[in-house]
Amino acid sequence: MCKVRFNDRGRLRVPWGYVGGVQCDPVEKKPFFHVYPGALAYSFGMLGCDLHCSYCQNWVTSQALRDPHAGAMPRDVTPVALADDAMRRGARLVVSTYNEPLITVEWAVDVFREARVRGLATAFVSNGNGTPRVLEFLRPHIDAYKVDLKSFDDRRYRELGGRLQPILDTITWLHDAGVWVEIVTLLIAGFNDSEKELRGLTGFIAGVSRDIPWHVTAFHTDYRMTEPGDTTPEMLLRAAQIARESGLRYIYAGNQPGRVGDLEHTYCASCGERVITRYGYLIRDYRLDERGCCPSCRAQMPGRWNSHFEPQRTSVPFLPHDRTRLSVF
Ligand code: SF4
Repeated sequence: MCKVRFNDRGRLRVPWGYVGGVQCDPVEKKPFFHVYPGALAYSFGMLGCDLHCSYCQNWVTSQALRDPHAGAMPRDVTPVALADDAMRRGARLVVSTYNEPLITVEWAVDVFREARVRGLATAFVSNGNGTPRVLEFLRPHIDAYKVDLKSFDDRRYRELGGRLQPILDTITWLHDAGVWVEIVTLLIAGFNDSEKELRGLTGFIAGVSRDIPWHVTAFHTDYRMTEPGDTTPEMLLRAAQIARESGLRYIYAGNQPGRVGDLEHTYCASCGERVITRYGYLIRDYRLDERGCCPSCRAQMPGRWNSHFEPQRTSVPFLPHDRTRLSVF
């Protein structure tokens, strides 16, 4: 399915030793809103995916083995070089993303080992199409996991090349295993935005835990999906209201900075105090204490928090000599 793992005369061969993309930018862009807010996330990815979403925003890397128009030049690199580079850039965590990290999990684990030795946290940005076996393999090495829950309709998942149930099982498994989970849903008119579907989807998340943050983000045309029109702020607000009625406590609307009311900010679920103010992925105000507690009622916020908040750095550009440095290992 993924076209990157194969049986070579009885030996399993898996990708290792290269990146198809690497970037260092705010963790809020992943999006993680309850994982070290304001920190830099060092993101790396390989090529390939087990799904083939027609709206994929990372299609250049994810569909590199399916689509002759896709493809990014791989650069050879070692886990040590990546972890050292993440440190040099001031990253707080390293993130396997851009392609589907579950299909290149052996490589991610080797990078994460080096990252952890240096005190960095680790995360996946993933479609969640995993098995208990791969999750057990990954579990000792990962701190946070963002699952892209694309729909609550098995027929839609089959159109993309997967099934719904394994994604739901992954979310439950990760939460039960103590991995910090956030979920994102790209809201697409006519694809996944019916009231019934949104009630089912958000009700499922709330059934796992009401404290799992749900990011509902705005679709814009991309890759092969040239219809329907872009998702509006009003559509996001409606979906957020349904999520609220389902019992979720942390609901965020994305890709529409300044146009979604209070849905970019974090509020204390106990007393209602605003504890983090955002504009898009930019943090405008941070008020949690050193243990990640509300400054007003002292309730513990769910997530992973810094002992102190440092002014946010919004990007660390990669210069031509950086690329050279990463490619010579
Ligand atoms: S699962 Fe993610 S990376 Fe893979 S095709 Fe779909 S959107 Fe792209």
